[in-house]
Amino acid sequence: MIKFNVPPYIGKEKDYLMQAVESHKICGDGQFTKKCNAWIEEKMGAHKALLTTSGSTALDMAAILTDVGPGDEVILPSYTFVSTANAFVLRGASLVFVDIRPDTQNIDEKLIEDAITDRTKVIAPVHYAGVGCEMDTIMDIAKRHDLLVVEDAAQGVNAFYKGRGLGSIGDYGCYSFHETKNYSMGEGGALLIRDEDKTDRAEIIREKGTDRSRFLRGQIDKYTWVDMGSSYLPSEMNAAYLLAELEEADMINDNRLASWNAYYELLSPLAADGYIELPVIPEECAHNAHMFYIKTKDIEERTALASFLKENDILAVFHYVPLHSAPAGQRFGRFHGEDKYTTNTFERLLRLPMYYGLKPEEVEYIASKIKEFYKNNAVC
Ligand SMILES: *Cc1c(COP(=O)(O)O)cnc(C)c1O
Repeated sequence: MIKFNVPPYIGKEKDYLMQAVESHKICGDGQFTKKCNAWIEEKMGAHKALLTTSGSTALDMAAILTDVGPGDEVILPSYTFVSTANAFVLRGASLVFVDIRPDTQNIDEKLIEDAITDRTKVIAPVHYAGVGCEMDTIMDIAKRHDLLVVEDAAQGVNAFYKGRGLGSIGDYGCYSFHETKNYSMGEGGALLIRDEDKTDRAEIIREKGTDRSRFLRGQIDKYTWVDMGSSYLPSEMNAAYLLAELEEADMINDNRLASWNAYYELLSPLAADGYIELPVIPEECAHNAHMFYIKTKDIEERTALASFLKENDILAVFHYVPLHSAPAGQRFGRFHGEDKYTTNTFERLLRLPMYYGLKPEEVEYIASKIKEFYKNNAVC
């Protein structure tokens, strides 16, 4: 069976993990965490990066930092993971869902402005599959309407828009290091803070609302409770595992891109014949091969293809029940404008196996089975 996902593992994780264990410093913010934070700041270009316990809690922290509350509105795509929405719902804000683009499955930047009301406070774009949203346009809209931007860059580590790291462009950016992501620590994430003046408050929220970080740096002589907060620090053991992978990030990235490019090339004839659609990478974007997906004609064809692949020992999956059609989405938000592509994408998109270490012959086998399916079944 070709699995859909295998958590990244390069070998060095074990050594670093043992070092963390033997250092008898296993709570948060030790050497490994600091090195991971520094890697993110340097490579992705944020003023400050702080490891968190998950991508979801990074989003929770970002939502607290925006000060949104009851009566405020947040604009986001409906085609996303629940965590993008939950973070703002937990603050009491209302969600305004906007349709996606049919090429990148990212929020359609041209539809955002029309969804803005006097209650809008935040735009939360999601970089689907590690392919950047049209950030220049989104940042320009935010500037003109005085809105904050929280990037859900959970899938965007080591991916860039016009040379700038995804997650480093908006006011806040959120990464995930869940085992399904390109770089992992089991469960974990990071919050990126673009501006220096927001850093202190982010550290305070992450340290249970105390100014402990300033105390540890010797800037104050005792620490106390100064704001709301919680515990968002991952343990050093998790950070140790992650550091091993971040140090080899480009090797992991090249490996994934090779699989992605092979899929693209092998499936191009099917796309040229009009059977399927392939992902589109805008010129401005350097993506990270987080996902490889195809779009079938309709939901029936997608269901048939997924079961055909399963019969041939290949796991292919689909995702994102549109949030606006889910019970909680209906309770906490509304869809602005027409749902032209959100539900349509949910029904047609199929993700193919993609992970570090996927073998070229496996990619070939998967592509050959998809071709076989269309040769046998489809009337185009
Ligand atoms: C994975 C993911 C998250 C959540 O990250 P966790 O680390 O699992 O909490 C949020 N948003 C998107 C778009 C994701 O893909």
